[in-house]
Amino acid sequence: MQPFTSIADLGRGLARGDYSARELTSFHLERIAAADGLNAFIRVTEERALRAAEAADRRIARGEGGALNGIPLAHKDIFCTEGVATTCASRMLADFVPPYDATVVARLAAAGMVCLGKTNMDEFAMGSSNETSWFGPARNPWDRGRAPGGSSGGSAVAVGAGLVPCATGTDTGGSIRQPAAFCGVTGLKPTYGRVSRYGMIAFASSLDQGGAFGRSVEDVETVLGAMEGHDPLDSTSAARGPTRRNGAARTRIGLPAEYWSGLPGDMGDCLLAAAKELEGAGHALVPISLPHTDAAVPAYYVIAGAEASANLSRYDGVRFGFRAEEPKDLDDLYRRSRAAGFGTEVKRRILTGTYTLSVGYYDAYYLKAQRVRRRIQQDFLQAFDEVDAIAAPVAPGPAFELGAVDDPVAMYRQDVFTTPASLAGLPAMSLPCGFVGGLPVGLQLIGPPFEEGRLLALGRQFQQRTDWHLRHPEV
Ligand code: GLN
Repeated sequence: MQPFTSIADLGRGLARGDYSARELTSFHLERIAAADGLNAFIRVTEERALRAAEAADRRIARGEGGALNGIPLAHKDIFCTEGVATTCASRMLADFVPPYDATVVARLAAAGMVCLGKTNMDEFAMGSSNETSWFGPARNPWDRGRAPGGSSGGSAVAVGAGLVPCATGTDTGGSIRQPAAFCGVTGLKPTYGRVSRYGMIAFASSLDQGGAFGRSVEDVETVLGAMEGHDPLDSTSAARGPTRRNGAARTRIGLPAEYWSGLPGDMGDCLLAAAKELEGAGHALVPISLPHTDAAVPAYYVIAGAEASANLSRYDGVRFGFRAEEPKDLDDLYRRSRAAGFGTEVKRRILTGTYTLSVGYYDAYYLKAQRVRRRIQQDFLQAFDEVDAIAAPVAPGPAFELGAVDDPVAMYRQDVFTTPASLAGLPAMSLPCGFVGGLPVGLQLIGPPFEEGRLLALGRQFQQRTDWHLRHPEV
């Protein structure tokens, strides 16, 4: 048994009887235990995992089970898991045990996957470095002094360090793509509505979207196939057929000037070489413009903050979550529970979000941000009249040192290349495409709504021509 093996090869190993699902699970649990210092997991669910693996072995013995039967995975700790604490990396939910499974969790379990535990993240998915986690940051496996990215950092670390073959994540403004880039793994944020949000703890409901991390596009595609699809329990989930990979016929790939100009030299060289690889595969690189790109970060932080302030109002110390001791009255209970339960960044979002929604400021901030959002959407739709997909950087640089970005607005600017596709609800993927200073760099591919199939085809083709996704750190 080897870490960093593809899901297809693990499936073949299980089918041939080279190892049992139980052995495969134990192997990965041991790797998790040995890599404790990475802080990738908030909770490891060893007992449950072994029982699920035994059930997978019984299915194999009966000749049942599909491509994912017996394959280990980890869930971001934002997905509700029945009977297993789901904290969202917040003190507020440190003891919260959901009474039900998120649809994503239920579907992947129904496919026979074995959940090994819940991964670390930024508190309530607010952050780009994992540093807002109540449980301390996960660490980048390529350099433990550096951030793994956020908010789904623990999932990216777990896959990047070979602790699990694949993991779930969520992406509101970049939280799958940026940690995938920082940790050298493949990550897909599907089109808004492709994956059910039921049981996924809400941050910004018009932006939140579940997706997957894997070692390759092929693995991500396999996991997406089992998690996607309409869900009657989520009214914003789309009634669409399954994602189908298109042929990677010659396409036109747009390079938006606003994303490519101003990159530091070595990042620019690395990313341009990746784009040339797509050209070498027969695609045409076309210069395009997405003129409102600059406005994405401010619009995103107004909209996401506004939605967060409403979503997080439910944590009041009464129904569930952290509760302050011996309150004097109801107001005191609310005030002290929220003051102690939430961290600084979450409070900042609630305060700014409440401000931008308040009478007198609503038009100036919230409505204006919605108009900007529409412009950004239109930029993309116009571009997709000319090109089939867009290639861009994921982040302005490789993983930064933990503690290095200590100004909130500087941290928000990390999201300059990921928030536009989020505001437009588009599918976008991060592919390992090289190294700068020994740290992985990610190439972003963005597609029209519900054209995940096109991104997967391009991504597969890229990974057939390159071996960046096969590199891994020494753990
Ligand atoms: N970094 C962004 C934020 O802090 C995006 C987070 C996310 O996608 N969940 O809001």
